[in-house]
Amino acid sequence: MKYYFALPFFVLLTLLGAGGATRFPGPPNIIILFCDDLGYGDLSGYGHPTIRTPNLDRMAAEGMKFTNFYSGSPACTASRYALLTGRFPARSGFDWVLYPGSERGIHPREWTLAEGLKRAGYATACFGKWHLGSTKKEYLPLQNGFDEYLGLPYSNDMLPPQHPPIALIEGNDTLQLNPGQEQLSALYTERAKAFIRKHGRERFFVYLPYAMPHVPLHPGEAFAGRSPRGAYGDVVEEIDWSVGEILKVLKDEGIERNTLVFFTSDNGPWIIRDSLGGSAGLLRDGKGSTWEGGMRVPGIAWWPGAVEAGALQLQPASTLDLYATCLALAGQELPAGRSVDGRDISNLLLGKTDAAATEKPYFYYGPRELQAVRKGPWKLHVITSSQTGRDYFNGKLPLLFNLDADPSEMYDLSAARPDIVRDLMAEIERQKRAVAEEGSFFGK
Ligand code: MG
Repeated sequence: MKYYFALPFFVLLTLLGAGGATRFPGPPNIIILFCDDLGYGDLSGYGHPTIRTPNLDRMAAEGMKFTNFYSGSPACTASRYALLTGRFPARSGFDWVLYPGSERGIHPREWTLAEGLKRAGYATACFGKWHLGSTKKEYLPLQNGFDEYLGLPYSNDMLPPQHPPIALIEGNDTLQLNPGQEQLSALYTERAKAFIRKHGRERFFVYLPYAMPHVPLHPGEAFAGRSPRGAYGDVVEEIDWSVGEILKVLKDEGIERNTLVFFTSDNGPWIIRDSLGGSAGLLRDGKGSTWEGGMRVPGIAWWPGAVEAGALQLQPASTLDLYATCLALAGQELPAGRSVDGRDISNLLLGKTDAAATEKPYFYYGPRELQAVRKGPWKLHVITSSQTGRDYFNGKLPLLFNLDADPSEMYDLSAARPDIVRDLMAEIERQKRAVAEEGSFFGK
């Protein structure tokens, strides 16, 4: 196992750079593989004892595995909003979770990652769960930077009789109502492969937000009943198969050295669903919560020849950073007239250290309010929330944890380190003030 600061490769990079040689034949293709409710502990490469994910483990062995990677929010809709806009959704005043009848959708002023990459000449496609609005056409992917779309417009558990029939949408049109969910992972995978083959000689961006492993769990026929972990293991193993298929088509097309693939999850596991939900491993709590289990998720980057094989990335990074990084790699400026919270982490991907990374605070938002902040190893909670409704510290606040030493958030150090508490409190106040002063797209 090599760490990110093992450097011979980068000496070579620097020499090439100094000589004016072009390291890459231009901006890379970009593929984001985005699970729904997959927890930090749900892959064999992240310690799960019975779920088998050989393709993801190989992806990590050939690329970079992050151990401190965060979703932009612990909730499905807000997390997707963060990924595609590079901003904490609270900045826009956006919702936590949208329902089939929700009036809102992604704000027209947002500048999505797909819009940025399209401007850079990329062919763009989304195959999977959208969940950024469906009651108006303007909310759908084709009006937000994607050339092609196939998928469900919201979560796969928003079904009759509580909700109207769910549509499998192609472009802007309904292809089928209440599609059999056991076909979805394979369908999205096949469409992604076809898109990659079609656009393999151009630049392309594929965003593949899987329906799974969000409940209800529907593994494809070839995977049902295989995993000792039950249906949850089956659907994760099918996603692993899907990842293997995507990496294979890149190799078959000979474009793997010019394609960045990033695998992650929208939020932590739905632990109150018992064995139908996933596992956050050694992290506390699950989705909806700002404990680490709600927002820290698997993160694997793969880009042969650029991202060093077997690299282990310990520095914090997030889905917000994917936005800024992908736009930077494509040579695009960040959008004007708004704050972007993500930062370009191509240095981290390319194995350089990034001193600024450890000093930049990362914020954990609940439905509206700022609940916690992380800077370096330190995390301060000023509000806590739990999916289980538990109050682990009997109302004591603030709480301070050293996540490097204590990733499970067991040992409150607020009394021992008042200096750190003061510093992080100031970061929270600064962020609240900045967001309030900037004003949100949606207003209050
Ligand atoms: Mg989710």
